[in-house]
Amino acid sequence: MKYADVILPLPLENSYTYSIPADLEQAVIPGCRVIVHFGKKRYYTAIVMEVHERKPDSQYETKEIYALLDATPVLRRPQLRFWKWIASYYLCKLGDVYKAALPSGLKLESETAVTYNEAFEADGPLRPNEQVVLDAFAGVLKLTVSELEKKTGLRNVVPVVASLMAKGAVEVSEELKRGFAPKMQTFIRLSEAYKDVETHGRASLQSVFDELKRAKKQELLLVCFLDLSHALNPALTRELSKKELLENSHCSPATLDGLLKRGVLESYEKEVGRLQVPVCRLQTPSPLSPAQEKAYGEIHDVFGTKDVCLLHGVTSSGKTEIYIRLIDEVLKMGRQVLYLLPEIAITTQITERLAKLFGDKLLVYHSKFSDNERVEVWNRLLHTDGPMLVLGVRSSLFLPFKDLGLIVVDEEHENTYKQQDPAPRYHARNAAIVLAGMHGAKTLLGSATPSIDSYFNATTGKYGLVELTTRYGDCLMPEILPVDIKELRRKKIMKDTLFSPILVEKINMALERGEQAILFQNRRGFAPVIECKSCGWVPHCVNCDVSLTYHKFRNELVCHYCGYKIQLPRQCPECQSPELRTMGFGTEMVEEEIDTLFPAAKVERLDFDTARTRTAYERIIADFEKGKTQILIGTQMLSKGLDFGNVSVVGILNADSLMNFPDFRAHERAFQLMVQVSGRAGRRDKRGTVILQTSGPDHPLIRMVERFAYKEMVRLQLGERSMFRYPPYYRLIVIVLRSRNDSILQELSVLYADNLRRRLGERVLGPVTPPITRVQTLHIRKIVLKIEIAAAIAPVREILEAVHAEMQRYLPFKQLIVHYDVDPA
Ligand code: ADP
Ligand code: ZN
Ligand code: ZN
Repeated sequence: MKYADVILPLPLENSYTYSIPADLEQAVIPGCRVIVHFGKKRYYTAIVMEVHERKPDSQYETKEIYALLDATPVLRRPQLRFWKWIASYYLCKLGDVYKAALPSGLKLESETAVTYNEAFEADGPLRPNEQVVLDAFAGVLKLTVSELEKKTGLRNVVPVVASLMAKGAVEVSEELKRGFAPKMQTFIRLSEAYKDVETHGRASLQSVFDELKRAKKQELLLVCFLDLSHALNPALTRELSKKELLENSHCSPATLDGLLKRGVLESYEKEVGRLQVPVCRLQTPSPLSPAQEKAYGEIHDVFGTKDVCLLHGVTSSGKTEIYIRLIDEVLKMGRQVLYLLPEIAITTQITERLAKLFGDKLLVYHSKFSDNERVEVWNRLLHTDGPMLVLGVRSSLFLPFKDLGLIVVDEEHENTYKQQDPAPRYHARNAAIVLAGMHGAKTLLGSATPSIDSYFNATTGKYGLVELTTRYGDCLMPEILPVDIKELRRKKIMKDTLFSPILVEKINMALERGEQAILFQNRRGFAPVIECKSCGWVPHCVNCDVSLTYHKFRNELVCHYCGYKIQLPRQCPECQSPELRTMGFGTEMVEEEIDTLFPAAKVERLDFDTARTRTAYERIIADFEKGKTQILIGTQMLSKGLDFGNVSVVGILNADSLMNFPDFRAHERAFQLMVQVSGRAGRRDKRGTVILQTSGPDHPLIRMVERFAYKEMVRLQLGERSMFRYPPYYRLIVIVLRSRNDSILQELSVLYADNLRRRLGERVLGPVTPPITRVQTLHIRKIVLKIEIAAAIAPVREILEAVHAEMQRYLPFKQLIVHYDVDPA
């Protein structure tokens, strides 16, 4: 008897054992998907992890695998190893990893498409349910599982489908309901009659041109067509899409219709991959500057002895060009490359740049992509062994790579690399290093403001360190001018305004010269707090312990934690006073003031409210790039690897709000944000200016930003971190406890912490109440573990599991939701 250990998409056990029916013994192999029965009448798509002959010594009867979905694995061997590492390091279950790793198109639940086999003849009686399901196919060949359930009224058709599948009556395809339909595109070609160039083809074309004398637009379009497609020269002829033709000829579809009606051109449909960015001829990488060349050589040297290298290169030093050179090399060796970027930093800008160099070797994996596109990328990698470059967000770590040679983690300091919710709460940068290790690949971390953790590893010899201290093309680092807004307010020079006089002056100068300005305020909305002038009432969220942010555009008060919103009341509900005042400011207020200060300038805002969709985001960026907009206001969305050529002024409206929040990384983060935003200023021929508004211009951190004193910032922070037992000297594991019932939460969290303290001593802190004590109706408490960095995590995990098991003996513990956050960001 053979057994399979399978992973279910549930956060319970890591794996479950099922027996393999005799007829599937050969076919069930690791990495395939199967359908299994679990719990009360539930069926799941599971992944086979291991096949063996060890009979489980469970008191329960071992159930059989119901059906097999794949003839070949959908995973590659090393992937399971990586999943296991994630689950064990980030203290979650393999089921959590499974859910995060597979695009939902492959998790195939209710969306699975079932096809009826018309040639099927039953060689015995069918069970009633099977007959019902087959009857549902009257008149249709293909139905999804959920459609079948609706049509048949059966609660769970998956097992019925599975048995029909075994009998050959139906087939289950990977196609989705929305159709994993190939993408079709319209192409234009010369009609057959005009193709024969040698003989009458040319002559008849000539007659067409004669006819077109009175249809100038059509004539122009035909010339453009012949020019672009080389239709008259068989050696050079290339396919031309309708889109490309219209774009390049600047003609309207109506003009094209005219030519199609004349019969000189014809259109045809053709399947195109979604992933290809059409490029005619590939470019070669740009030559590197001497400084880049030197850095490139040093990275090579580092990779001779170390697996990880940190490239610390100032903003606009041309790090991307160095990555490109390394990527090119690895691809030429026939290996694969993963290029990781934070979600929002994957723009058309970088995609097009890479597509021009690497053509169809480039695959893009992005969460804003449709599931079809994700499945397409997955399958491309699964079925090709050749060199591929994947540009992707953190979840692309889970793709079925065959043989990675290099992982580039750009903007490695970005905390969005850490997944917050749900589990697995993994850090993509750290996980990338582990994944690279499994493939025998190298990892290159790049940033202008490296995370202190990576910098520490690079200076203590664990990673190599390569520095690039000059900007590409001898462009100067911007000049940073701190402005004391407290003083200006005291002297009444700044009254009822967010703009210091010097900032106004610099923006005016830039606008006069046809240059652009960027303004940074890390809060969206109009004002973070509204207060009643007479009684001090402040509106709060009903679900969370936070004040509501005022959004003037919609006249709404919004919770940024749960989305709860209400109309702004006309008067204070407590004392009926009509006078409500705002406190603090967000991007909306900045925008409003710009309209009065610089009425002639075209302004746009880049924040979560204006750039909700990918297209909106890209349009705002593109308009600014093209100079359609002169001033761009934004939140930290601005700091993510954008490269603008004409920005001469950057204004940081309020540096204080960046520095004052209770987190040990607050200063590190504030420094990174300010330096990154400043990095958007400056052009090749002129030095940029940054106006840094703060009420504490003498604050050491402001002084360090002023001088780009990164190393000094690190030294200061490291001193504090070692004193207070923080990373990189200690590893943090946070146990997050949440409950609707605050008193049970209080009581049990104390017990939990005491229990842990008995085994881990003073490594245990808390329970502590976080600054925001309630989110989405759940009260929150945290227990923090500070573990020596050299200590192995396995014994800690055992203790955590034991304590968790003990806590479950308290009945009210059921009212708690508990999760671990390892290396919180
Ligand atoms: P970073 O990522 O370090 O901030 P980028 O790679 O975006 O910098 O480069 C900054 C600018 O300099 C870009 O506009 C890029 O096209 C240009 N650049 C960098 N290196 C080269 C090179 N070797 N040849 C031509 N242009 C380059
Ligand atoms: Zn009031
Ligand atoms: Zn809320």
